[in-house]
Amino acid sequence: MYILLNGEFKQKNEVSIDFEDRGYQFGDGVYEVIRVYNGSYFAMKEHMERFVRSAKEIKIVLMHSAEELTGMLNELIQKNQVHDGAVYMQVTRGVTGRKHLFPGKDVTPQIVAYPIPCSKPVKEQEKGIKLYLMEDIRWLRCDIKSLNLLGNVLAKQEAYENKAYEALLHRGEHITEGSSSNFYGVKNGTIYTHPANHLILNGVTRMKVADLCRKNGLTLAEEMLKVDGLKTLDEAFITSTTSEVIPVTEIDSMKVGKGVPGPVTRELQRLFEEMIHNEEKVIG
Ligand code: PMP
Repeated sequence: MYILLNGEFKQKNEVSIDFEDRGYQFGDGVYEVIRVYNGSYFAMKEHMERFVRSAKEIKIVLMHSAEELTGMLNELIQKNQVHDGAVYMQVTRGVTGRKHLFPGKDVTPQIVAYPIPCSKPVKEQEKGIKLYLMEDIRWLRCDIKSLNLLGNVLAKQEAYENKAYEALLHRGEHITEGSSSNFYGVKNGTIYTHPANHLILNGVTRMKVADLCRKNGLTLAEEMLKVDGLKTLDEAFITSTTSEVIPVTEIDSMKVGKGVPGPVTRELQRLFEEMIHNEEKVIG
């Protein structure tokens, strides 16, 4: 497998990460996961924009432009012959003695990208999933795709231990998002999701779903849902790069609506699939 390390392609066994890398010691960096369908990236522009923004928000100065990075990532999937899968990319503030303060300008950010396996969660997309509700204990800059994922990791694990596919996080009475996905509730034909502010990650899939809603006459309201309101939802679903659109049929031990995937969710799944194929055609 070829790995992109600071602009150079290396074999996996040639790459080693320094134990004083700030990503390793502080989680001091940001990342992206980009889906590859049929040999092409999906929503590369949006992922690259978010990556550049995340880096800027934590004051990491990237050594490559978005265009250069995109070119290198394209070469990466060609070299590795990735047909369907994903690419993980991360940048850290670099390697230096362990101190909280930023290092000087002589320390350069370390950027790594490599393919990771990824396939459609077909069963979940068909049947729907269960969520486990819990308090959102993360920091107040969830809009940054930070390497520091402890709050997310702990939530995902707790959800798993409670036989749920994903966590549903809430800050007090307000629902925010999943541990690695955005959440939506449907009520009387309107789709509700948390506004894209500092309390959630503005998912690339979320942006694509918002586009689909606009173009297809579906109403999407960026309004906070309340924990109390979950029991009155007709439908619910989550989205993410790797999940795409997955229906939610159960939250804790409560059925959502009729307890089966609803028509609005099904329509969005269909539109999303169509969009994947259309983007392929544009690129191809
Ligand atoms: N929220 C969180 C906390 C996430 O980790 C993810 C996955 N990256 C998402 C939302 C969904 O984002 P995207 O659609 O860009 O994968």
